[in-house]
Formats: sequence, C-alpha cells, structure tokens
Amino acid sequence: MLKIDMHVHSNHSFDGLMSVDDILRKVRKLGLDGVAIADHNSFAGSLEAMAKADGLIIIPAVEYSTDCGHMLAFFVCSDAKGILRQKNGKYNFFEVAKLVKSQGGLLFAAHPYKGRKNFPPEALHLVDGLEVFNSRCVVRHQTSNNMAQRKVQEAGKGFCAGSDAHTPKELGNACRFFDLPPKAGLENIKKALAETSGSYFGKFSPLSCYCRSDLLARRKRDGFAGLVKGCLRFAAGLLIDAKYILSRQNKDLKTGKIYEI
Ligand SMILES: [Zn+2]
Ligand SMILES: [Zn+2]
Repeated sequence: MLKIDMHVHSNHSFDGLMSVDDILRKVRKLGLDGVAIADHNSFAGSLEAMAKADGLIIIPAVEYSTDCGHMLAFFVCSDAKGILRQKNGKYNFFEVAKLVKSQGGLLFAAHPYKGRKNFPPEALHLVDGLEVFNSRCVVRHQTSNNMAQRKVQEAGKGFCAGSDAHTPKELGNACRFFDLPPKAGLENIKKALAETSGSYFGKFSPLSCYCRSDLLARRKRDGFAGLVKGCLRFAAGLLIDAKYILSRQNKDLKTGKIYEI
C-alpha cells in the first residue's frame, strides 16, 4: 500500500514556509511513500523535488488559481507560463484544463466546496476528480470535505486527499492510499488515481498553522497593515483550536481516520 500526501506547498509558493529539502526529510520521517508538491501556479517545487527524490515518489504537480477555484494538476511537466493570467491574477479554468490534458496530466479540483455551496457543473464535467479531504478545511469548513466526497460518489469521479501543508506540522495530515507495490511507477499511480474507489487518511491541521502561512502572505502583499490583520487572525486561530481541542465530537478530525470510497 502506498501512502502519498497529494497536496503540499514549498517555499516556491508565496505563502509556503518549507523548503523542498525540509519537505522530503519530513516525508521520510513520517514513513510516507511520496508527496505531490503543488505550489501556487508554479512547477518549481516539483521540479526541485524530482531532482532530489532519492527513492521517494514525487507526483509532479501544480495548484492553479482559476476562475473556477483552485485546481490541482497532477502528472504535468510544466506550469502555465504560456497562458495569460486574467486581470484578477487568476487563470481561465478552461485554458488550464486544456493545457493539463495536452500534457497528459490529471486535473482535480482542490477543496472544491471550501467557502461555497456549489461547484460549477461545467467544471465538474472536465475534472478527473475532486479533493475529498483537505486538512485545511478545518472545523467549520469540515462539511466541505463531506460535500466533496458525496459529489465524487454521485458523479463517479476520482478522488484525492492532501494536507495542503504550508508548515512542517501539517505534512502528512491527509494522504491518498494506493493499493500498489512500492516500485509501481508513476504510470500505474496515475491509473489508480483516476479510479473511483479506494481509501484515504485524513485529519485536520491546527488553525494556528493556517494563520502562520496566512501571516506570511499578508506581510508580503499588504506590508504592516497585513501583518497586524494576520496577527489578529493568528490569535483567533489559537483560541478556536483550543476550543476544538476541548470538544469531544471532533475526535476523528483531530486524531485522523481512514475513509473508504
Ligand atoms: Zn488551494
Ligand atoms: Zn494548496
């Protein structure tokens, strides 16, 4: 059985706090078989990881910001340098879908229901699957993971699970299981990823981790005002985490659980 965290950010992402070396070291320490480094709109993290893999499975990936939400492109060979970004900084979903298909990759919607009730049907039609567990869909967003799992079963799509780690503490908090031997090879993992049944592990990450990377992004983008706002959110995150650590009904989400589809 292979265990792969399908959604991790390195410091090639504007809000990532881990170097590729940090990630690979931690993946080994956790006993995972591999990782997909899916940096925001960049293939640089995957490229670096592939050069340093040394036996670990590296799923080449990018997380695109599109007008239909964040999209995980797996088994691709570059990012979308040739495609123009729109004024709002996002890519056109259909152009990204076309590019990923042309590279022979698989397209999965990341956290498809985080902050929204509906995933556009025209996009659902074109994706190979949905991320059914994202460890950053914490606490009040947890229903969005459940919605993604229901949709995958209803629509007969593939599924993936990932921590969306931006900090070391989050790595491995979710992973997709593949019923394959250690030397299965990327082609077989790709085939298995497109399948509609299987299993995954998931637990949610402390909100304080989210706030740490959010803080970094805000400081880079908005300077001092961003830093102050980020600090307030960080403090709120610590309080909310403490509340949920004390509540029993979220035990599964804290300790983690293996889910079957
Ligand atoms: Zn995302
Ligand atoms: Zn992400």
